[in-house]
Amino acid sequence: MSVLPIRVLGDPVLREETRPVADVTDDLRRLIDDMFETMYAANGIGLAAPQVGRTERVAVVDVEGAKYALVNPEVLVADGKKEKAEEGCLSIPDVYADVERPGHVVVRALDRDGQPFEVEATALLGRCFQHEIDHLHGKLFLDHLSFLKRRSALARWEDEKDQYPGFIRILKPGASKSEHPEEEL
Ligand code: ZN
Repeated sequence: MSVLPIRVLGDPVLREETRPVADVTDDLRRLIDDMFETMYAANGIGLAAPQVGRTERVAVVDVEGAKYALVNPEVLVADGKKEKAEEGCLSIPDVYADVERPGHVVVRALDRDGQPFEVEATALLGRCFQHEIDHLHGKLFLDHLSFLKRRSALARWEDEKDQYPGFIRILKPGASKSEHPEEEL
């Protein structure tokens, strides 16, 4: 397994629509395993393929031990009371903002073995599923913000982005933990 470089805001791959996976092959399983390793190395709780420069419709999630590989995930239901909570993104390091999302979702996907499953989620897990599935359609958490909040998040990013030449974030082994580890998706 390997830790992959993470693409940051400005890399066009983050704005691309992904391609549905036709077959869950050994190559795809290798990508899934590398994505888990990369997510853990970054102290994240979710990671989508475009964040490592890939266009397969795949994401990984591990919220407090609730661990999922999501191949071709779809949101079947998004309802419940809207909830607001702080989010960050491994592709927009050190930028955080409150995002409002439906409090309850049902997601259907294929697992690492290509078997279909459905999962119901609320709270942080439901939020993480929605954030990662957005990534698979070229959408970022910034897109959920009001004009003013988005402008202030982008101003914050202006101060950060020069650390990532070529829009690439190389994770250093043993790097210090984020101050907001729970919200990095
Ligand atoms: Zn993200």
